Amino acid sequence: MIELQNVTLTFPDGDSRVTAVDNVTLTAPAGKVTGITGPSGSGKSSILAVASTLIRPDSGSVLLSGPNHATVDAAKLSLEEAAALRRDRIGIVFQQSNLLPSLTAREQLLVMAELGGADRRTRRAHISGRVDELLAAVGLAEHANKRPHQLSGGQRQRVAIARALVQEPDALLVDEPTSALDQERGAEIMQLISDLTHERGTATLLVTHDLVHRGTLDELVTVVDGRIAADSMAGSAAA
Ligand code: ADP
Ligand code: MG
Repeated sequence: MIELQNVTLTFPDGDSRVTAVDNVTLTAPAGKVTGITGPSGSGKSSILAVASTLIRPDSGSVLLSGPNHATVDAAKLSLEEAAALRRDRIGIVFQQSNLLPSLTAREQLLVMAELGGADRRTRRAHISGRVDELLAAVGLAEHANKRPHQLSGGQRQRVAIARALVQEPDALLVDEPTSALDQERGAEIMQLISDLTHERGTATLLVTHDLVHRGTLDELVTVVDGRIAADSMAGSAAA
């Protein structure tokens, strides 16, 4: 589960500051896809950046819990500790798949084993043992040896999803995964994220401004001007 409590994030804006996230409290339970929607500039990506520890909030907590780890407040970690937390417990998928152009699909996943950590050998064995299963789970068993330029946009996004899941994260954070895809390919990616979330029990937080995919979300939170909208389901998601 990932839980944001009273999170506020501001950015410098000339002489003053702009409030991107305004006292947001929300819960993304394990095994569910919690959607975040709202207009452009409402703070969706900022919420995800805080949840993923890429940006530290001005105030509030980001509690990450999972079956094999103690609960931590990611908002209180040093930069190094946050990097280790992302490496070990958080999977991130952005709008663009951000794959390394020279690596095959298989190698994009294998490279995740080389990010260091306390016990590199254990991590390497653990990840390399999971790569083929994950490529199969995202429907790319036949494409494991292709490089990004040989894959379609939807296939590249599948590689990014497999890569995000290879270390068995507690949380999967996804920002507008369908924005570069046509509707049919987008629907397939949303269904895949939903299936993998339910199967693997990740706490998935997914930003989308496009409610055509509403049906694949288990929960939905609406953000307006950095705040959870009054009629949204936030807070009731913890069941
Ligand atoms: P969304 O993803 O909903 O479109 P964002 O989280 O990207 O919204 O942006 C929320 C607000 O924060 C906007 O006013 C945006 O201009 C501002 N903002 C986002 N990132 C930065 C940044 N790195 N520096 C300054 N302002 C930012
Ligand atoms: Mg955004």
